[in-house]
Amino acid sequence: MQAQLGRPRRTSLLTPRAVDRTRILDTLVNNLEGMVYRCMDDASWTMVFVSQGSAELCGYAPAEIVDNACISWEEITHPDDRARVRAQIRSAARNGQRFAVQYRITTASGNTKWVLERGITVPDEQGKSVIEGYIEDVTPRRATLEALERTELRYRHIFEYASEGIFQTTREGRYLAANPALARLYGYETPQQLMADLSDIESRLYVDPSRRHTFRHLMENHGEVINFESLVRRCDGSIIWISENAHTVRGPAGEFICYEGTVQDITERKSTEEHLRLLATVFSNSNEAIIVTDAQNRIVATNQAFSKLTGYQQEEVVGQNPRVLSAGNTPPEVYKEMWDSLNRSGAWQGELWDRRKNGEPYPKWLSISLVRDANGQVQNYIGNFIDISELKASEERIRHLAHHDTLTNLPNRFSLNEKLEQAIGFCHRNDMQMALMLIDLDRFKAINDTLGHHVGDELLIQVANRLSSTVRKSDIVARLGGDEFVVVLPDVDTPADAAYVADKIVSAISAPYQINGQEQRTSPSIGICMYPDDALEIGDLLKNADVAMYYAKAKGRGNYQFFTEGMNAATAQRLALESELRIGLERQQFVLYYQPQMDLRSGRLVGVEALVRWQHPTRGLVPPSEFIPVAEEAGIIDALGDWVLQEACRQLRDWRNKGLGAIRMSINLSTGQFLDKTLPRRIHTLLEYHGLPAELLDLEVTESVSMASPDETIEVMKALTESGLTLSIDDFGTGYSSLAYLKLFPIRTLKIDRSFVKDIETDPSDADICDVTVLLAHKMGLEVIAEGVETEAQLKFLLSIGCEKIQGYLISEPLPADRAEAFLLQRAPLMSGLGTVDLWSTP
Ligand code: C2E
Ligand code: CA
Ligand code: CA
Repeated sequence: MQAQLGRPRRTSLLTPRAVDRTRILDTLVNNLEGMVYRCMDDASWTMVFVSQGSAELCGYAPAEIVDNACISWEEITHPDDRARVRAQIRSAARNGQRFAVQYRITTASGNTKWVLERGITVPDEQGKSVIEGYIEDVTPRRATLEALERTELRYRHIFEYASEGIFQTTREGRYLAANPALARLYGYETPQQLMADLSDIESRLYVDPSRRHTFRHLMENHGEVINFESLVRRCDGSIIWISENAHTVRGPAGEFICYEGTVQDITERKSTEEHLRLLATVFSNSNEAIIVTDAQNRIVATNQAFSKLTGYQQEEVVGQNPRVLSAGNTPPEVYKEMWDSLNRSGAWQGELWDRRKNGEPYPKWLSISLVRDANGQVQNYIGNFIDISELKASEERIRHLAHHDTLTNLPNRFSLNEKLEQAIGFCHRNDMQMALMLIDLDRFKAINDTLGHHVGDELLIQVANRLSSTVRKSDIVARLGGDEFVVVLPDVDTPADAAYVADKIVSAISAPYQINGQEQRTSPSIGICMYPDDALEIGDLLKNADVAMYYAKAKGRGNYQFFTEGMNAATAQRLALESELRIGLERQQFVLYYQPQMDLRSGRLVGVEALVRWQHPTRGLVPPSEFIPVAEEAGIIDALGDWVLQEACRQLRDWRNKGLGAIRMSINLSTGQFLDKTLPRRIHTLLEYHGLPAELLDLEVTESVSMASPDETIEVMKALTESGLTLSIDDFGTGYSSLAYLKLFPIRTLKIDRSFVKDIETDPSDADICDVTVLLAHKMGLEVIAEGVETEAQLKFLLSIGCEKIQGYLISEPLPADRAEAFLLQRAPLMSGLGTVDLWSTP
């Protein structure tokens, strides 16, 4: 049997103890766990020998099986396996090979067992084909194997179908295994491709190769890595974030086997994280205050800007309703509108008033949006806001600028229109009267031109203040521009009420001003127009007030005039006069008349005053009172004044040529001429041109012009008198003179105004004024000349108070040049020094 099992025969050794050998084999065969057998190679595998093991194996004793005594082996063999077993044995037999086949049997007790049969087909002693072999029970082994197989399969499934990438690599990063998920993760179609392509993880996978070194370092030192995040480059070059969990796999003896682990694509998580980090940065660094509230509108978060703006720290407001921030002066409709809009469109923007922690209220511009969860339920409200108090302040400032004059802060023309419209509407509805006053400052241009804009500006500011404090709060004071102001009295009973206010304005504005430590003066000329009697429309009201104002100016300044219908016609006339004046100047329609002046001490004519006349082609000789103010207004006075100067000098030269050497010439200067810085040089040139000594020229400046800005006057006068000419103060007594300044003026003569001379005999105060003027003049070393002397009585009085010179009809009217010449020749001292005829003997 042994030999038949393939062992080499060793008969030579065993022969001496043949009996023993059989017994040993017997014992061996029968004590084996399995069943040793020989069977026929027939249809039912008829057993010819079966060892004792059969009982254990299949529940049948050898005797029951041998020769199919009870049951054949074919019957024991599971019917499903019979054909396969037979085929395998046959196939092995054909090739002269041993076979090993596993199949099921049915035991005597009806159980199924798995057996492994190993055998060989050999010829028996008679040369018939028999099968000899050994059948053993492999049921337990098979169960273990199957269990193992199942487990293996289970793990294989996990490996194959896991959504995470799974790998095993060598230390150097060569893949030992990779699952499909890993292949997909890295952009490959199959793990095979991945393993072929990514043979070298270290240099190819990680964007930053040092990550792999860190990985290895951790693996070597700690045996594992957890949530190891790296940027890796996929097959197509795209870059993703991965997180690896891995450990070192070691064998029973601690020997290294591989690195094994899982890989997750965390790109999305990373970008979400990054996004969140970004949002958090935006949230905390935003310049806008941000409040997040929950569905119940309780504050859950605020940012730094919020704390900075409101003064509240987050902890102080969390859990509260944002209502705690409210200042309480936002109208309830605004909140209602806010909630309506939020519910309707999920957003709202608008202005609210809040209060800071320190109690200070402020306006804020708030934008709220609503955040819903996946189910559409309100989850949060996010409100961001900015403090718009500065914005509002500048808005307010812009509005103010648009409506107010920047210099005086009074309402401007634009705003006046609005206010007037309202006032007119009000008066109309309530059947009331309204007075509109147009106020123009006298001499303002002169002050502005000579003293500079800063002085002019300051004067305007002070005038504005005085106007505002003179009228009631409910009245309107506005500045139209330049030196033009408007006062509107929206509720007056009679024009007399307006006159009363106008009076107050005149005295308020006429009082002296302190500007840069110097006293300045001006006065208002006021034109008044009444609504509804004089005009109904704003434009007409202003126009008529302007006309009336013009009349006030013409009347002598520092007064007011009510508009009358007649004025409009007169204004038209004035405009016509203006253009005629220009033409007159061009066509040389002006002539000079000369009024002689007499020295009472010598009784001689010592000079003449040049007085201009207009030889109008149709109106005849027009006196200066009718055109000088118009010429001043229209800006023609300078040209006219120049002409007067030239003509007077020419005449003087002419008279000197004719022997009237000692006659002096007085010339009136207009304000503009007097303040003209080029005047001294021009006069000097003129005198030189005519070869006239400067002492023969006397320039008259009115008291009010000289006293308007006395410091300036001193400078101008000094420049004028440098060449030797003399100066007189005209109309003395009609203005306000500061004696301190008068003393400083380089003047020679005071001309007592003819209004004082006129009533010298009847009005004691006029007499006093003349008396004091003469005293004063003499104290200051000045001469006095009295104007407008018409009577002997006046002369007598003037003589009695020591007045040196007179001028007036008593001696002569102003005369045209030829008549003046004749008059002078008769009475004036001749250059030759011939005797003169005295009219009156000197006292
Ligand atoms: P004024 O400088 O005070 O000139 C004296 C005015 O009194 C002159 O009036 C003269 O005719 C008038 N008059 C002289 N004696 C008598 C008199 O006994 N009784 C009366 N009632 N009047 C007398 P006129 O010529 O009409 O000049 C008026 C004003 O016109 C002048 O006043 C002067 O301020 C201005 N004016 C005249 N000519 C010129 C000029 O060439 N340039 C400038 N800027 N102003 C001039
Ligand atoms: Ca004069
Ligand atoms: Ca005068």
